[in-house]
Amino acid sequence: MAKQKKEWDVGIDLGTTYSCVAVWLEEHSRVEIIHNDQGNRITPSCVAFTENQRLIGDAAKNQAAINPTNTLFDVKRLIGRRYSDPIIQDDLKLWPFKVNADSDEKPMMIVSYKGQEKKISAEEISSMVLTKMRDIAEANLKSEVKNVVVTVPAYFNDSQRQATKDAGTIAGLNVMRIINEPTAAALAYCLDKRANCVGERNILIFDFGGGTFDVSLLTIKGDVFEVKATAGDTHLGGEDMDNRMVKYFVKEIKRKQKVDISGNPRALRRLRTACERAKRTLSSAVDTTIEIDALSGSIDFCSSITRARFEELNLDLFQRCMETVERCLVDSKMDKSDVDDVVLVGGSSRIPKVQQLLQDYFKGKELCTSINPDEVVAYGAALQAALLTKGNKFVPNLVLLDVTPLSLGILLKGDLMDVVIPRNTTIPVVKKKGYVRIEDFQSAVSIQVYEGERTRASDNNLLGFFHLYGNPNAPRGHPLTVSFSIDADGILTVIAEEESSGSKNWITVTNDKGKLSTQEIMRMIQEAEKYKAEDQKYEKKVMAINALDDFVYKIRNAIDDVDNPQKKTKINKAIAETEKLLDAREQTETEVFVDHLHRMKSLIESIMKIKF
Ligand code: AMP
Repeated sequence: MAKQKKEWDVGIDLGTTYSCVAVWLEEHSRVEIIHNDQGNRITPSCVAFTENQRLIGDAAKNQAAINPTNTLFDVKRLIGRRYSDPIIQDDLKLWPFKVNADSDEKPMMIVSYKGQEKKISAEEISSMVLTKMRDIAEANLKSEVKNVVVTVPAYFNDSQRQATKDAGTIAGLNVMRIINEPTAAALAYCLDKRANCVGERNILIFDFGGGTFDVSLLTIKGDVFEVKATAGDTHLGGEDMDNRMVKYFVKEIKRKQKVDISGNPRALRRLRTACERAKRTLSSAVDTTIEIDALSGSIDFCSSITRARFEELNLDLFQRCMETVERCLVDSKMDKSDVDDVVLVGGSSRIPKVQQLLQDYFKGKELCTSINPDEVVAYGAALQAALLTKGNKFVPNLVLLDVTPLSLGILLKGDLMDVVIPRNTTIPVVKKKGYVRIEDFQSAVSIQVYEGERTRASDNNLLGFFHLYGNPNAPRGHPLTVSFSIDADGILTVIAEEESSGSKNWITVTNDKGKLSTQEIMRMIQEAEKYKAEDQKYEKKVMAINALDDFVYKIRNAIDDVDNPQKKTKINKAIAETEKLLDAREQTETEVFVDHLHRMKSLIESIMKIKF
């Protein structure tokens, strides 16, 4: 096929279990979901390797049962993470394929391809899925597709976003923008129901997919979309329910048929496929049967499960969803009655019990189910692509605002984290802050960049550090500025500048192995809440110490102006006492420093006759 050169605006939802591609059709002013070669509107995010070929999508999934160790799925969970990440370690126990760590702690999948062992990274597999989605679009549009918008979960950190962008680059695509899945969903919803979007509306996006769960609260005001807060659970999705059902039936098989299939990857894979199908059926029927011929040796398996039993098996997972909804509302400082619309996204949001709990939580509110939950994210991504290339011609003045998932800042004296960009700040954003040198005549100032919610910098995650080589003769207190900028893809650059010497240095936080996992982000937010009181106490103490230390520094510099030797001795004695106190900072209470500064000030004021 000779491909035309028409530029299409394409959005790809690169999902954990399924992916979906959509295109903006300018002549019809609407988005179309593109079906694949099997006629399906969603494609399994699955890649398989065989003796002869590589398979992607439905073809890969369909042969999974006969080739479990070389069929890779759920790979999005690995993206941008270290091998030792607890999420990966948990997943490894259930995956039939092998994953090892390379020398950089990066997880690598091991498969046999054309008879040879092959090591593949998560980015490569994601790029294969992206290539498949591009091929689906190209076959349908009969034209080359280059420029795309790809979506990621709201809780993806910088490293995971970078890795997704890298996957697009490997696939030969120009990823114009990475956007959050809930933002894409809100965008699709807003266009679909534009008449509803008058005045200000608060929309809660409940995205319950195959491997992740995200809740976001967006405010749509006029044509501005603002993500107020996001909360997520990285290990909660349809696959967890599949696993629960698999465990349930493995036990039943053991009890009834006296066979343990837990060490048989092929049997487990076939059982999991049957469970997933049963789970979907239970969203519309109250019971269903599972039948698998020759599941293990000559044993045929036949059983049934009711919706009530399924709900019982998973009730704690559903309740976790509601806790996340609650957390998102608390973070956005909104009451549940402030929420105008609750939008369902992701296949697992079809589960009746989930819908019932959500509706009960929002006191009977009608849930928005008019948009297909499997397609809404790709739909919004295609809209975003059109917005980027065609401007706001078709959706006038529409602006998308996303937020940072964690606070970002730098280390100050006393292990204090000074926040430059608070968590849930709308991006893109640039923030500048003035600082001062903390020592006389430093040859270089060290700038350490952290992310997290704790007061002590060392309790947060160090993203990187660099030195600013300014004027080596500058005294303590000499000013410098630090600016943080986060671009529309969520990538952070920190610049430090010293105006007096014109020196400048910066760091772009890139995809390195030291980055935080999403679970770590969640843990840090939860910990920060838990330790808030303790943190505030610590902050007060450091401020008191720093104030006293600064005062002593000023007096030491001013002492030369005192002529009277007796006064000088008195001041020196007070300085020595203060230094002793500062040396014992660990065991001294905050109030002691505050009182001491008070006394020190009145003493010095009375001796030097100056007011501080
Ligand atoms: P997503 O990641 O949004 O593609 O969601 C995929 C997940 O939704 C998979 O775990 C599916 O098994 C699940 N799913 C799809 N349809 C249904 C349904 N009707 N009822 C329950 N779960 C479903």
